[in-house]
Amino acid sequence: MKIAIIGAGVAGLTAAYRLTQHAHQVDIFEASDHLGGLASCFMLEHENAKLEKYYHHIFISDLFIRNLVKELNMEQDLLWLESSMGFYTQDQLYPFGSPSQLLHFSPLPFLDRIRFGLVVLYLGKVHQWKKYEKITAYEWISKYFGPNILKIIWEPLLRGKFGTFYNQVAMAWFWARVHTRASSRQGSIEKLGYFRGGFASLHDRLAATILTQGGKIHFNTPVQKILTTNHHLSGLLVADQEKKYDKLIFTAATPAFLNLCPSLPQDYITNTTQLEFLAAQCLILVMNQPFTDIYWLNISDPEIPIMALIEHTNLVPKEWYNQKHILYIANYLPKNHRLFQIPKETLIQEYLPYLKKINPNFDLSWIENSYLFRDGYAQPLIPLNYSQIKPQYQTPIQDVILANTSLVYPEDRGTNFAVDVGNQAAQLVDSSIQLKTFYE
Ligand SMILES: Cc1cc2nc3c(=O)[nH]c(=O)nc-3n(C[C@H](O)[C@H](O)[C@H](O)COP(=O)(O)OP(=O)(O)OC[C@H]3O[C@@H](n4cnc5c(N)ncnc54)[C@H](O)[C@@H]3O)c2cc1C
Repeated sequence: MKIAIIGAGVAGLTAAYRLTQHAHQVDIFEASDHLGGLASCFMLEHENAKLEKYYHHIFISDLFIRNLVKELNMEQDLLWLESSMGFYTQDQLYPFGSPSQLLHFSPLPFLDRIRFGLVVLYLGKVHQWKKYEKITAYEWISKYFGPNILKIIWEPLLRGKFGTFYNQVAMAWFWARVHTRASSRQGSIEKLGYFRGGFASLHDRLAATILTQGGKIHFNTPVQKILTTNHHLSGLLVADQEKKYDKLIFTAATPAFLNLCPSLPQDYITNTTQLEFLAAQCLILVMNQPFTDIYWLNISDPEIPIMALIEHTNLVPKEWYNQKHILYIANYLPKNHRLFQIPKETLIQEYLPYLKKINPNFDLSWIENSYLFRDGYAQPLIPLNYSQIKPQYQTPIQDVILANTSLVYPEDRGTNFAVDVGNQAAQLVDSSIQLKTFYE
């Protein structure tokens, strides 16, 4: 079969890998000049090393991607590194990664520290999540974790991730976050997975295998339109030329699908335009000093307009980056937010007083280089009863399959589920692809 795939992110690459394995003729069209989509890497100017535009790691429980890594014979390139987590709240930084750190977390009264641990343990054990579709995370947390934990821990995190939608997110999403994290721990230690050479190593290996299996990847080639006849795929408009395909897998964000496919029925458009997305912004500082000794620092201070500080080199050895320290200053924002519009240098100046508040020794002279990345459709909002509006793989257009983050539910979107979505889409195109063998 002649198959087109839109997007060379993890989902598109996985689907192409499977389909070329089964001797299909596959063309991947990628709007940008590189692989990896949201998980893509860029070259650090002076460090001769690749780094993700947006911080990335995987969890021990991410079996879809781990099985793919095994299949590609890349297990030796996936390192499991000890993580550390902290909270900045009430003008202080607190380590918050292990049971004993939780017991010493003085912003919460002692009984709430115990309560926090028990409720997290409970969520880690619960498997029936359907009941959580009908209640918001905010309501459930205030009832079961209680008001102190809500105020100090979860509300700032929900606000950081979902902005003004913070109290609309379904408990199903929150359950999946905590459940994944809990099943990823080994006792008091949490290990996170990261690739030698960055996630680019995985993308490069997938691309090389796709090419060897006869597939093609067309960079700098945005698809302009999905062509249909009587609700059937007839082809694509690419570089002002019409190309014929038997099947199409679309992996870019759902709003882009609506734009590129004008012949969708009105009820489908009405349903999918209800989906909301947050934009992501990461300012990356390459520094000659460490900012803290914590990998993932949550900011729970309503005056600081930062969701989290992720100090990559507190997870991954700084030796990989010429001894430099790499800090992501991360935010999820609505696309029209002021912070999402301003240039990099202005943003650094905006953040400066807050960085100094968190670490009073911090100085501009620590910054040797900086990079800014933004994406408009980074985080889907998962509202109540999402299963009723969740798009399906099979679209109303025959032979057009949607395979993107909008289909990931209740889990949080991530590269692990992009692999799953790519696998499922490939199987829908060719039912002889047996997913069972790589899901064991
Ligand atoms: C800030 C941030 C942090 C994250 N952290 C993690 C993490 O720690 N761990 C983890 O596993 N995941 C993480 N993720 C999520 C992860 O990056 C994504 O879930 C995953 O990469 C999605 O892959 P995808 O292939 O489904 O989509 P995408 O990566 O979005 O790929 C879609 C591709 O389609 C291309 N495209 C768009 N329009 C067109 C067009 N018209 N024609 C051709 N091509 C087009 C785009 O350029 C893109 O390359 C993070 C994401 C963000 C934003």
